Amino acid sequence: MTVASILKGKSDRLISVTEADSLADVARVLTKENIGALPVLDAGGDMVGIISERDVVRQIAKSGGEVLSHAVRDVMTRNVVCCGPDDSIESTMAMMTARRFRHLPVRSQGRIVGMISIGDVVKRRVEDAEREAESLREYIVRG
Ligand code: AMP
Repeated sequence: MTVASILKGKSDRLISVTEADSLADVARVLTKENIGALPVLDAGGDMVGIISERDVVRQIAKSGGEVLSHAVRDVMTRNVVCCGPDDSIESTMAMMTARRFRHLPVRSQGRIVGMISIGDVVKRRVEDAEREAESLREYIVRG
């Protein structure tokens, strides 16, 4: 199973912010869209960073609520780790676990074509395990 199979079940719409948006904008978009991280895109659609709910919470804990007016560019992570549509689900899970983040942008031919989260990966692994258990059950019952 590959990352492409997870993307197939998700909306095509890539939700993103720009470097000039504020942390309040980020909090609003994350809440409205019910997601945990956003790729940061420049005017040409290239990814220049990633910002997650954890970044926003850390800044508030450090400096208080006034940071909500600060720009995304001051807080985002610039060195973004991506996966590709042909990567295995196991490899993305290992990557997220080793690096301790829960989101991976999916890059194909130099463009960001989607985002996957640890939630998507775990959901798919559980579905695969259930399917495998069901086939084994059928195999045993039928003999
Ligand atoms: P998360 O666990 O995804 O909420 O993110 C934890 C931290 O890792 C935050 O500082 C994010 O900006 C950063 N982060 C999240 N995803 C990635 C990624 N794919 N590449 C690099 N940094 C990331």
